[in-house]
Amino acid sequence: MWFFKKKKQSSNTSLETNRDLVSVRMEAIGGQGANSAGKILAEAAVLGLGYTGNHFSSFGSEKRGSPIKSYVRFSPALKPIRTASSIQQPDILIIFHESLMQTHPEIFEGVGENCDVLINTAKAPQDVVFPQGIAFGSVATVNATKISNSHGCGINAVMLGGLTVFCPEIGKDPLMAALENYFSHLSDKVKNSNLSGFKAAISAVKNREFSKDQAIGESQDVSLPDLGWLNAPLGGVIVNPGNSVLKDHSTSRKGVAPQFNKELCFNCGYCDMVCPDFCFVWELKADGGPELKGIDYQYCKGCQKCVVVCPVDAIKPVAEGDLGQDLTAQKVFPEVSGASIEKRWKNLDWAKYVEELSVEDKMMTLQTELLNHDSYLRPDFSKEIVSRAKLKK
Ligand code: SF4
Ligand code: SF4
Repeated sequence: MWFFKKKKQSSNTSLETNRDLVSVRMEAIGGQGANSAGKILAEAAVLGLGYTGNHFSSFGSEKRGSPIKSYVRFSPALKPIRTASSIQQPDILIIFHESLMQTHPEIFEGVGENCDVLINTAKAPQDVVFPQGIAFGSVATVNATKISNSHGCGINAVMLGGLTVFCPEIGKDPLMAALENYFSHLSDKVKNSNLSGFKAAISAVKNREFSKDQAIGESQDVSLPDLGWLNAPLGGVIVNPGNSVLKDHSTSRKGVAPQFNKELCFNCGYCDMVCPDFCFVWELKADGGPELKGIDYQYCKGCQKCVVVCPVDAIKPVAEGDLGQDLTAQKVFPEVSGASIEKRWKNLDWAKYVEELSVEDKMMTLQTELLNHDSYLRPDFSKEIVSRAKLKK
C-alpha cells in the first residue's frame, strides 16, 4: 500500500515528538493479523493525520503459521518516502509472538539503542531476556494473547493499543479511528470487541528502559538452508533425513495451546484421529491397552481440532504460558535429536540403497538422481554443496 496525501491539521497536538521519519517493523506469525495491523497503522498516519507514508508486508510462504513481517514508514515532517524496501533498522520493533525470539533470532536484525521494542508476553518488561549483544532503547510488554482471548478480538488490535506507548506521532485517537474504520464493514460485535481489546492494551501495556543485563540469553546463529532457488533438487524434494521429526510447530500456535487433563481422559483416541500432526503420545498399560500420556508440543500447531472432538472435555485451550512443565515434557520420539539424525545421515550408505532398487524403480522417478547425493543438484551449482556434504561425512 502506498500513500501520499496533502498534510492536514493533526488532532494529535498534545503529544510532542521530533522524529521526521518513523519506521515500524512487525514480526509475527501468519494469522495474527500483522498485515492488517500495518494497514491500520499506515491509514491512521496517512489518511488520519495527513503524513506521508507507506506499508507492505512480506509473507514468506504465505500460510497461516509461518513467520511474516509487516513494514510501516511514515513521516510527520511530510518527507517524501521513496523507498519501499524492507526496514533494516526500525525505530519500533513489534513482536507478536514471544517464541519468535528463540526460534527466529533474525527478527532482531538492525535493532539498537535507537529502537524500542513491544512484545506480546505475560512478562514484565524487565523480565524479558534477549540474546547476548542485543540493545534497545525501551522495552514494552503487553499480554496480547490473554487480552485477545478475553475480549474476543484479534491480537493485532491489542498490539496496536500497546504501540501507542511508543508512537506519540499518531496517538490513540487517530489509531482508534482507523481501527474503527477498518472493521466498519463487519458486525458491531466484531468492531466493538476489537476496540475494547485496543483500549485494554493501552491500560495494560508496561514500558521500561532497556537494561544491558537483559541481553544474557544464549545467542543463536541464524540458520539458513543449504538449498535455495538456485540449487534446489529437482521437483523441490526435501532429501535430508529427519526434516519432519525435527520440525518445530510451536510458533504456529499463536499463543493458545491445548491443555490435556489425564484425570478426565478415557483413552478413546478421537483426539489422535483428528490431529493433523500426530502429536499424541501413547503408552501401553499393563493390561495391554493404550493410555494417552499427553501431547508433544514440538509438533502441535494449535489447530484445536482435538479440543473440539474430545467427548469429555479432557483437552481445553489455554494460554501458552499456563500449560505447565509436566505437560510439555511428553515426546513422541524421545530418542530423536539433531545429533542422532546427523549420525544416521553420515552413516547412510547411498550406493547400497541405489543398488537395491530394481531397474523399474530407478526408471519410475528421479530417485536415481536423488539417491546419489553427488548428483542430485544441478551440476552448475552442485560443486560447493557437494564439497560441503563431503565435509559433513
Ligand atoms: S491442537 Fe490438538 S489436534 Fe491440533 S495440532 Fe495440536 S494436538 Fe493436534
Ligand atoms: S478425545 Fe479426549 S478422552 Fe479421548 S483420548 Fe483424547 S483426550 Fe482422552
